[in-house]
Amino acid sequence: MIKGFTRFLQSPGEHIRSLFGPQDASAGNPVLRIIPRQEHPVSRQHFSDAALKVLYRLHNAGHEAFLVGGCIRDSLLGRMPKDFDVATDATPEEVRELFRNSRIIGRRFRIVHVRFGREVIEVTTFRGKPGDDHGDHIAQQSNDGMLLRDNVWGNIEEDALRRDFTINALYYNIADFSIHDFADGVRDIETRTLRLIGDPATRYREDPVRMLRAVRFAAKLDFHLDPASEAPVHELAPLLLQVPPARLFDEVLKLFMSGHGVETFRLLRDYGLFAMLFPEADEAMAQLEWAEPLVERALASTDRRIHEERPVTPAFLFAALLWGPVQLRQRELEDDGMPPIPALQAASQKVISRQLQHVAIPKRFSLPMRDIWDLQQRLPLRRGKRVFQTREHPRFRAAYDFLLVREAAGELAPGLGDWWTAFQDADEHEQRRLLSKVGADPAGTNAPRKRRRRRRKPRKPPTDE
Ligand code: ATP
Ligand code: MG
Repeated sequence: MIKGFTRFLQSPGEHIRSLFGPQDASAGNPVLRIIPRQEHPVSRQHFSDAALKVLYRLHNAGHEAFLVGGCIRDSLLGRMPKDFDVATDATPEEVRELFRNSRIIGRRFRIVHVRFGREVIEVTTFRGKPGDDHGDHIAQQSNDGMLLRDNVWGNIEEDALRRDFTINALYYNIADFSIHDFADGVRDIETRTLRLIGDPATRYREDPVRMLRAVRFAAKLDFHLDPASEAPVHELAPLLLQVPPARLFDEVLKLFMSGHGVETFRLLRDYGLFAMLFPEADEAMAQLEWAEPLVERALASTDRRIHEERPVTPAFLFAALLWGPVQLRQRELEDDGMPPIPALQAASQKVISRQLQHVAIPKRFSLPMRDIWDLQQRLPLRRGKRVFQTREHPRFRAAYDFLLVREAAGELAPGLGDWWTAFQDADEHEQRRLLSKVGADPAGTNAPRKRRRRRRKPRKPPTDE
């Protein structure tokens, strides 16, 4: 929490109102509002040294330099900014020349990353309207209106109107510490409203990821979507199928690994967006009653760990998201006579390869995810040396957590999880006792609740004929 913001936070809405004066009535037609330093609570103390260094060096070289986006929005909400984005009239090449520790990245959006140790400051050049005839002129649009490239330079006002939400178009000027509000973003911060700048459907078509960003910010900031920005989402959700899977992977991580996963997941489902990211998982949720609770519990546990600042891995989450489809597929194969172990292998492979067409999961996460799944078959086998091999497996802990989530979601009858909870912490004597208890269970498996049911053809209802 930012120091000195307690008073601001006690009644954030009121405080902003009193700071910024009465609201402009011309809501539909935003005008630039410059809020001088003495009338807003955002101070340089809230910014990292690296961010300030970048701003001052640009300024001293005669360029305009602003902090923009999430860091100003979050500061106004009394939250500690997570990272810093700088907007400037300097071109990427000019920025590159000012900072030795920088490099130009991206094709779709050329931006400069300036690195200070582990911190990276993102510097973007003001962007203009794609059709405008000034500056470096490289913008491309697909037939659906999707922006493929957007490297047309412009001025700050044009730059503001090209941003996604009004609350993300607030600029902090290093020249005089004022905030420039181009789209009534301050009013929307007060009323906790997410509102796209311009015509919502057009803006979603330009970049369908904005629909995911809407959900992410709504969950994270506890904002609501303005009705006009909400209305087209259901219908336009399928546009996400055209977004490159690698970009969606980055976005999915932000959606689920920011400490508000449960709420985000519910919103994604409500808006029909989840099915565009994880179609098979969405279908499995309609068929298996435990599949949705399993994902919610996995997300809740991830959220908890993030708030406790404990490490989290996306592999665990992906394991939960795709376990439903993997189980459906495994059952089918077993029903066709394949033994369980190869059936799980084949099912995993199939589900992953289909999923990769939507969201690219890198190997560094999909391999541990498969380990977590494989271990689900080994956890019930507790005879002889096996139990110690399982215990020593590098992915044991994640697999054990996953087992607990499966039990809690009602996929498995409880029991095995408790056994492993006790076994892990037990001394040698206690471990022997626990192992002898397994001996009493003839299968040695503590078999999961019987879950395989052959699909029968529904009996035809009697007819009059
Ligand atoms: P956070 O960093 O907390 O996730 P942010 O708003 O800073 O939130 P970034 O992805 O860092 O999000 O983007 C920085 C800024 O760039 C945004 O605030 C917004 O103004 C603009 N922006 C980012 N993505 C888009 C997009 N898809 N369409 C339009 N503007 C965007
Ligand atoms: Mg940011």
